[in-house]
Amino acid sequence: MRLICKELSVVIGVLGVIGSFICASILGKSTSVSSSLSSYSSKSVEVTRNWGMTIGIFLAQMIGVIVVCVILYSIGEILENIEMLNGRLYGIESAHKKDDKPKNSDKKESIFTSEISKSVPTGSWKCSDCGTVNANYCGTCSCGKGKL
Ligand SMILES: [Zn+2]
Repeated sequence: MRLICKELSVVIGVLGVIGSFICASILGKSTSVSSSLSSYSSKSVEVTRNWGMTIGIFLAQMIGVIVVCVILYSIGEILENIEMLNGRLYGIESAHKKDDKPKNSDKKESIFTSEISKSVPTGSWKCSDCGTVNANYCGTCSCGKGKL
């Protein structure tokens, strides 16, 4: 997905450059016809290139192309990060699954409790013996150790 996005941004960039070249060459010419109308005392419809117009169109299109490219590329970059995170999460998950399959639920629980003990909620206390976080109203831990 990320590769598609990045490739797409490159393809759009290349096509955009080509497209803006073509557009600028066509529009740069046609506008020079209308600009020659301003001095229509001499009603000659010369197809001369209006370089200011050509460059202006080219730059305007290039800016558009660059904006689209940058957006697509950053989407690709974001997707890459998401995929990397997913890969890491998957790696952690599969590592846990590899560890001990029957104790999978226990493992999850231990992660859960250890996560809680990291951030002990106010009013609760952590058992110094087994590490279980108990509510404030609990005088003794499930392991039998009393509140300090
Ligand atoms: Zn305890």
